[in-house]
Amino acid sequence: MEERFRRFMAGRHGPDILSQDLVRGSLGMLLLGIVIRQSIITWLAVGLTGYAWYRILSKDVAKRAAERQKYLPFRAKITAPFRKWIARAKTRKTHRIFHCDQCGETMKVPKGKGTIRITCPQCGHTFTKKT
Ligand SMILES: [Zn+2]
Repeated sequence: MEERFRRFMAGRHGPDILSQDLVRGSLGMLLLGIVIRQSIITWLAVGLTGYAWYRILSKDVAKRAAERQKYLPFRAKITAPFRKWIARAKTRKTHRIFHCDQCGETMKVPKGKGTIRITCPQCGHTFTKKT
C-alpha cells in the first residue's frame, strides 16, 4: 500500500506551503460558512480545497513551484505581525520595549537594570526610562 502511494506520488508536486495554506484557509472558510449560514462561502471553501488537491497532485512541478515563489512574499507580509508578536511574547519577561519619542524606532532593553539612559540608534535622541 505504502509503495503504491509512493509510486502514485512520484513526479507529482506534493504538498507545499501554498497547498497547506489553501487547506487551512478552506477550513476557516468552511467554518465561517457554517456559522454565518452562507452556502457561497462553503462552496468557495470546497473550491479552495479542490485547488489545493490539484496543486498537490499536479505533475507540472515547475509551474507549481513558480506559483509558490509568487505566494511567499505575500505570505511573509501576512505573517510578519504575528511573528513579531510571538517574538515579543517570548522576551516579555526578560526585556522591555521602548519607542523613540523623536522617530518612533522600537528598542528592546533588558529588564531590571533600574533607570537607564537610552540612545536611539536611528536618530541619536536620548531619554531615560525605568526598566
Ligand atoms: Zn529615534
